[in-house]
Amino acid sequence: VAAGSPALVADLVFDLPLRRSFSYRVPPGLALRPGQRVAARLQGRLRVGVVVAVGPEGGAAGAPASLAAIERVLEPAPLVGPAGLELARWAAAESLSSLGATLAAWLPPPPRAAPAAVAPPGASPSRQPATTELWCGPGRGEALERELAGGPGAGLVIAPDGETAGAWAGRLDAARLDAAAPDRWQAWLAVVRGRRRLAVGTRSALLLPLPPPATLALLDEQDAAHKPPGAPRLHSRDLLRRRVQLEGGRLLLLAGAPSVESWWEARQGRARLVEGAAAPGRAEVVAAPTRGILRNHPLTLPLTAALRDALRRGGRIALVAHRRAPALGCDDCGAVPRCPDCGVALAYERTAAKLGCRLCGHREPAPASCPRCRGRRLAQLGWGPERVVAAVARRFPQAVVASATDAARAPRADVLVGTTALLRRLPPGGLDAVGIVALDDLLRLPDFRAAERAFQLLWTAVEATRPAGRVVVQTLHPDHYALRAAQTADRARFYDDELRFREELGYPPFRRLCLLRVSGADPGAARRLLEDCRAALGGVAGLVVYPPAPAGAGPARRPRLACLVKGPRELPALLAGPLGPLLDRPRRAGAVVEVEMDPVDFA
Ligand SMILES: [Zn+2]
Ligand SMILES: [Zn+2]
Repeated sequence: VAAGSPALVADLVFDLPLRRSFSYRVPPGLALRPGQRVAARLQGRLRVGVVVAVGPEGGAAGAPASLAAIERVLEPAPLVGPAGLELARWAAAESLSSLGATLAAWLPPPPRAAPAAVAPPGASPSRQPATTELWCGPGRGEALERELAGGPGAGLVIAPDGETAGAWAGRLDAARLDAAAPDRWQAWLAVVRGRRRLAVGTRSALLLPLPPPATLALLDEQDAAHKPPGAPRLHSRDLLRRRVQLEGGRLLLLAGAPSVESWWEARQGRARLVEGAAAPGRAEVVAAPTRGILRNHPLTLPLTAALRDALRRGGRIALVAHRRAPALGCDDCGAVPRCPDCGVALAYERTAAKLGCRLCGHREPAPASCPRCRGRRLAQLGWGPERVVAAVARRFPQAVVASATDAARAPRADVLVGTTALLRRLPPGGLDAVGIVALDDLLRLPDFRAAERAFQLLWTAVEATRPAGRVVVQTLHPDHYALRAAQTADRARFYDDELRFREELGYPPFRRLCLLRVSGADPGAARRLLEDCRAALGGVAGLVVYPPAPAGAGPARRPRLACLVKGPRELPALLAGPLGPLLDRPRRAGAVVEVEMDPVDFA
């Protein structure tokens, strides 16, 4: 550094639940840029920090003499450009979380040794127009492959899980960026430097800089895996939408039965719906009533017949079974006790003999008989995959029956038994038949998205089955609108009904939800912290703050309580002020609060 040139101060953020940055002195001779990672001491410990700003001393940074110095640089160039940092800032603000934790979830692990100098991502690419398309027709996967392989622009495919990412990386001969990739850091740089045109990853790759013109694709956009717990606490779809708003580019959302949110966006003209050519044929969807049957056996006569026919032809069958819904249902009439205010199934708390609403906290004693038909068969039914495998193997001893998350793991099985994810990983049209063991297990999830999940499962089942094949749906609700729409292949009909329900009861996309979840070794402290949060939000116009309710399964020694907040589109901004002091105060031993914006999983 030439004599007289000013010493520099860098602001760093760390992978900690702290919503602020820390200033450090930049040692002479060190060239730093925002987006670069460095090692620096914080509270006596050497940690990885990301540079978010660099400037001359004496700026906003305060007294430079008292500042600690950055110890060393972890990589010679920033991994993200200004646009990536802006997206991360938006995501942190929108989810009321730490910028450092948000960035840490998005950047590949740093290399062990500092490598040779590399070129940084382009400073500010010329702005491209932004477009969003919702691809839901048959053959959309092949169309995406053709589109990206044909080039010439850069492309990034985001898959719901590592296995799908791996398969797509092979399909496109693309750089692989999910957690199972051999060297994410090298793959990331290969794309940044333009040595690889296409990349595939999971949501940890969302920030990968791409030269324009770029195409971003989200596979199975409706999948809850695109919003797992933890930072960054936003749905991959919303992050990608924001990304194309900020830097332009083309966003392709792929799903046979899209999320209600995406369908609504398309209906409002904010995304172009691409339904493609109609499939040449379509599997028949048959409803099989289960009255009195599922207590004893997972197979109705129509499903038994479908299995027998398919096995005789040498075809393959998939059976979809779910873990038991935490709600009660009547085995005679199909009635499910629901929350009078929220319309969702009430969760059964066996030890307390109560029914509770996971959304609003409403509780009532568990009835001894069915409230509709007075029958005594009110129970928590459910056939997990293992029980189904055993029952089918007994009924068809000559068949090879396997429980599988992935068909590749059971290549010789005649009957595959698994959850919804199994169907999604099968090639389209490859099955002779699909059996949905208990659609009602999905319909009675204590979640306002229960009908959407059921419709998506049915649509996926039809797509996985050959055109002349059969999808047998075991249910006590053969007239349910999700099933009717699947039988007639009428997407619009389902979304019209579902959107009416969402609007009436104030659910997304009409209102926005946020779950405040507290946990702690001391239940009293956790409850007080949640009460502090609720008190802080009292009186904020436009918000509905519900009473505390138990928050699903947590570790046994750390009971969790949650409270739901409903509000308008600008919900994060309304919460940030009042909740800020509670989020930023030092973590007390007793309890912590987590903010889950736009939650997707209530079960
Ligand atoms: Zn009943
Ligand atoms: Zn309720």
